[in-house]
Amino acid sequence: MAILPIRVFPDPILRQKARPVKRVDDAVRRLVSDMIETMQSARGVGLAAPQVGELRQVITIQVPEQDAFAMINPEITRRDGSREVTEGCLSVPGYSGLVTRSIHINARALDENGGRFKLTAEELLAQAIEHEVDHLSGIVFLDHLIAHEELHKVGTSPDEPHWHDVGYTVYAQHAPTLARDFELVEVMNTVARLSRLNAESSLSEASYDLADGAHESDLHSHDHSHS
Ligand SMILES: [Zn+2]
Repeated sequence: MAILPIRVFPDPILRQKARPVKRVDDAVRRLVSDMIETMQSARGVGLAAPQVGELRQVITIQVPEQDAFAMINPEITRRDGSREVTEGCLSVPGYSGLVTRSIHINARALDENGGRFKLTAEELLAQAIEHEVDHLSGIVFLDHLIAHEELHKVGTSPDEPHWHDVGYTVYAQHAPTLARDFELVEVMNTVARLSRLNAESSLSEASYDLADGAHESDLHSHDHSHS
């Protein structure tokens, strides 16, 4: 595994379209594990392959309290509802802005073994998937800003911390590689209290970490340590 350099806006690769993965092979699996390590090192909730210089349709996602996972050739098949939410991007360090995202999405993709899976996601997980899938089309969150004035240098308003409390539900359906019918293997429900953006934090540090002040006993700081 390796930590890859993250391309930063306005690097032109962030505006290019990624190609579908034709075959999930060892090279793709290596990219996935490098992307997961890079995402965790940067403390992001998601990463898209173009952000590490690979124009392939691969994204990795990790929301608080859940394991990281990859979506290869991801497709959002349904979007419901809308909400305004503050968002940042590892390729736009130091800034966050207000964008409109879906409340609920259905998506499908391949996993790193080439197996098909579908998932439904809400709130932060839906937002992260929408954000990363956008990257595969050369779209960055700046394109979704509700108003230009809504782009903030992170941490310039220490007196006005942004709090986000989100709940999300994941219904993951993992398919055996060769099977046609999906099998429901896990249902996860959780609520995450997200961190306050403060004057000292960089955008990556401020991105969706659990708050120190979370009072629910099952909420604790996400341990990003890894080998
Ligand atoms: Zn991004």
